[in-house]
Amino acid sequence: MTACWLPTKSPAGCFADRTQEVVGAIDRFTYIAPMISERYDDYMHMALQEALLAYEEQEVPVGAVVIFDGRVIGRGHNQTVQLKDASAHAEMIALSAAYNYFDDWRLQECTLVCTLEPCPMCAGAAMLSRIQRIVYGAPDPKFGACGSIVDIPSETRFNHQIEVVPGILGEQVAALMRQFFQQVRSRKQEPS
Ligand SMILES: [Zn+2]
Repeated sequence: MTACWLPTKSPAGCFADRTQEVVGAIDRFTYIAPMISERYDDYMHMALQEALLAYEEQEVPVGAVVIFDGRVIGRGHNQTVQLKDASAHAEMIALSAAYNYFDDWRLQECTLVCTLEPCPMCAGAAMLSRIQRIVYGAPDPKFGACGSIVDIPSETRFNHQIEVVPGILGEQVAALMRQFFQQVRSRKQEPS
């Protein structure tokens, strides 16, 4: 199979323009008010749908969407096993679709919504793309690069910083991940 990130589906879904509202406070560990959570819930549900596609394909269930002007312009799910490509993360695929949408690498007014805290590669790509905001569901203590291990979005030595909104539908995301890895473990324990 040829490794290719080009989206096989056209970006779908049209939502009320919610991303135009200013998120406000800066301390990302304390400022998640219920209002903000509700605002991003719809987008996180879409990212979760992508994660479920990955789950069905026996990939680690991570999904992502890119939002511009209230619309989904890119979506993707983890395909590292299928494509035999460690860089085929949900976020990279969704970003790739967004580049196609704009025919440009700059995504200044876009929000990247991902089920899991992005890794250094994906947070780095978001930073290079000048993404305005990253919204994620559950933290990733093993690879998370938005505060868990390193904090690329707020690193002021880079020339671009990204606003981060963590914890949107975090429990649902964490439950999906737990279920997936439990299944993997039980599959390994089955007698061959
Ligand atoms: Zn990643």
